Parts: sequence; structure tokens; C-alpha cells
Amino acid sequence: MILEPRPKKRIFIGLLVLTCLILFFFIFLLWYVPLVGLKNIHPLLPLLFTTALAILVFFMLSGGLLLILTILWRRDLLFSHKLRGIVTKILFPFMILMGKLVRVSKEKVQQSFIELNNHLVRSNHHRTKPNRLLILLPHCIQDFDCQIKITGNVKNCKGCGKCEIKDLIQLADQYQVKIAVATGGTLARRIIVENKPEAIVAVACELDLTSGIQDSYPIPVIGILNERPSGPCINTKVDIQKVKEALLDFLESKSSHYPLL
Ligand code: SF4
Repeated sequence: MILEPRPKKRIFIGLLVLTCLILFFFIFLLWYVPLVGLKNIHPLLPLLFTTALAILVFFMLSGGLLLILTILWRRDLLFSHKLRGIVTKILFPFMILMGKLVRVSKEKVQQSFIELNNHLVRSNHHRTKPNRLLILLPHCIQDFDCQIKITGNVKNCKGCGKCEIKDLIQLADQYQVKIAVATGGTLARRIIVENKPEAIVAVACELDLTSGIQDSYPIPVIGILNERPSGPCINTKVDIQKVKEALLDFLESKSSHYPLL
């Protein structure tokens, strides 16, 4: 499976807008229905209740607007770090549910989430030293027939060139960043705990990337989807240029060159 060149953030944003509209409808019901009853308890209660709901709506609208403006203007406006946390920890599970409701596949929502996360990380202009930057790769990128064990130490690779591990090690050496291969989420978490990176460039499929981004928060992760020309989990590929761009996003100051939405 070869992925589309750039999964769209607009799927996530569209689902977010839809969720907000539904929530606003329920908030309206929540405001309107008990209003009469509250008046009977105390004449001031409807005013207090309305104020509380108005504050809630204000925060929801401001948060949504801030998220959209951060994406459109590609820079850290206000609280982009916090926005990333809200998107990662709270909104994403809702968007998966909402996607089911309007028949957008889980995979598409995951791709959109990864793209949105990358955009927010880039907007945050997080810079780090090379030795605190980690390239984290999935095991399936190694040639299936290669007998060399690279999970403990990726530098065991003999550099035969049958898979992209060779190029990725060269890239890591060029920028003097750390590089590791994980066979799954548990090992990935252990690698992160041991290496204590300040930033991560991760390559994986939709499922592993989304769970990795969630588990690693607040460490900023730029996720790069692998390509699966031989099917999932075997002889997968990655665009080396995308990995290089992600490294440079963490290592040097440069303006973003990614398209809107
Ligand atoms: S490049 Fe390295 S990991 Fe890939 S097949 Fe050759 S020796 Fe094995």
C-alpha cells in the first residue's frame, strides 16, 4: 500500500466542527430545558446557569478558533503546546467516534490526526540539540530476510543496502542524532525512557504512530507514515527526504513549507 502524498488535516478539522455543532445543540437543550425549573428554586439560578454555559461555549469557541488560526498561520499563536495536548488526549478519541458516525474510516482520521499533530509541533518551533533528538523506526522496515539483529543496536546493520536502515543510519550519523528500532509499543516506550529524548521523529503505520504520539506526550513527535508496497508489517519503506525534513524542523530554525489544510 502506497499512501497518498499528504493526508489532509481538514478531515480532523471537519469532524471537530461537526462535533462542536452537535455539542452546541446539546448545550442549548441543557440551557433551555431546566431554565423554568431553576427559576422556581431561586430567581438568580437561571442567570448563574446561563453564565456558566456561556463561559463553557466561549472556551470551546476560542479553543477551536485558536486551533484553526494556528494551522492557517503556521505559527505558535497562544498555547499551541496546550492545544496539542488537548487534541492528542481529548479530541482524538472523540474524532474517531465521530468519524464512525459519518463513515470516515479510522485510518483516514488517524492520518489526519498525525498530520495535524505534526503541524502543531512545527508551529511550536521546538528546537533541540542533536543528542536529544531520536529517530524511532519500526522493525518492519528491516529487510524480512536479513538475519542481523538490529533491535538492540541498530548499528549492527552491515549496510548492504537491501533496506532503508542503511540510509537512515547514514542520516542519523550526518546529523549526529540517536536512532533506534522498536518491535512494538512496549519496546518503543522503553527506548524513550532510556534515551530521554527532547524530541522524536517517528516512522510507523497509522495505529502505532497515533498511539506513540499519545503515549509520548508532552514530548513533541513528528510522525511519518511508512509505505507498505508488500503489505502491512513486511519490508515497509519510508521517504528519507521526509525524515530529513523532520530532523531539520527540530534542529534548525526555518519557515514551514507545508501547504495549508
Ligand atoms: S541494510 Fe542493514 S538491516 Fe537492511 S538488510 Fe542490509 S544489513 Fe540488514
